[in-house]
Amino acid sequence: MTTVDVGMPSVRDRTDDVSDRPEVPELVDRFGRIARDLRVSLTEKCSLRCTYCMPAEGLPEIPREKLLTTSEIVRLVGIATEHLGVHEVRFTGGEPLMRRDLEDIIAGCARQTPGLPMALTTNAVGLAHRAGKLADAGLTRVNISLDTLDRDHFARLTRRDRLDSVLAGIRAASSAGFTRIKVNAVLMPETLAGAPDLLAWCLDEGAELRFIEQMPLDADHTWARSQMVPAEALLEVLGRRFSLTETEREDPSAPAERWLVDGGPASVGIIASVTRSFCADCDRTRLTAEGTVRSCLFSDRETDLRAALRGGASDDELAALWRGAMWNKWAGHGMDAADFAPPQRSMGAIGG
Ligand code: SAM
Ligand code: SF4
Repeated sequence: MTTVDVGMPSVRDRTDDVSDRPEVPELVDRFGRIARDLRVSLTEKCSLRCTYCMPAEGLPEIPREKLLTTSEIVRLVGIATEHLGVHEVRFTGGEPLMRRDLEDIIAGCARQTPGLPMALTTNAVGLAHRAGKLADAGLTRVNISLDTLDRDHFARLTRRDRLDSVLAGIRAASSAGFTRIKVNAVLMPETLAGAPDLLAWCLDEGAELRFIEQMPLDADHTWARSQMVPAEALLEVLGRRFSLTETEREDPSAPAERWLVDGGPASVGIIASVTRSFCADCDRTRLTAEGTVRSCLFSDRETDLRAALRGGASDDELAALWRGAMWNKWAGHGMDAADFAPPQRSMGAIGG
């Protein structure tokens, strides 16, 4: 197996040995998990610079020749769905709307695997002009990242004054026919007090709000456990304005815990990646914009599919490489270990 080591050595690094892997087509790992949810990062570029994700100057540019092309992405997604048992694909980044060929990528995947659920995670800047085209191309779901409705907080957090464009994007997605739009919010101490307003707004718009605990995946490496907003603190703040009733998860591999708001049917989710890790149920596999498979957000050990693909590998050979990459997936992110070191790639360079 060809691997690319982009990070520093860690006790969580495992061998590349796949000799004990069972002969099954799916993306199984040593801990019995099966990855069925593919996240494809399309670019490192972004229209915002969220402090918990990107450096102020943006990520170093990926040379054009290293970026997967439209047809390469469509082919790899096809291998995942047709050979590896992947059920759902999500396009992310960086900001996927920064790719002009996003509609072509989606249309290509839809033609190749009719009925494939395809979702987009986006900051929605500029989505207002493209929501209809994306729906026509075959996109099935949209998740939009929005942390606050306070314009000053938004501008400080994202280092860009683009709140109006995001709100227009959310409304355009709804007008284009996307239903069950999810809004993802990463809370920071300064935006915690605004969380109830954000929830009230999402309830009015018919969007499902999910709060995500901030993970140590910022490019500036300033994350500190003492500074992050844990789920408990958020529940306390939301509970002062809404009555919250915890509900069963619809799907055990779904990371969000859900609470009915004021008796339902509307709900709010919390993805407590740090304080209530769900690694044991993780069903994700990731493809970076440069075409490497990443088995875990926190593992810098990557398997290069782009080189194999451009070297003439068959679909079966690429599928075998992908299976090997996932077999050695770590048990968990290891954030609680004394020797924890954040990965070299930040969230925007992996694809959240
Ligand atoms: N640009 C798109 C967006 O913001 O939705 C897609 C890429 S972004 C990396 C995907 C998701 O990761 C966003 O919902 C964002 O809030 C989340 N994210 C970024 N950095 C994070 C961090 N350090 N901890 C937790 N979530 C993070
Ligand atoms: Fe860009 Fe998304 Fe990262 Fe914000 S979270 S900087 S919008 S990639």
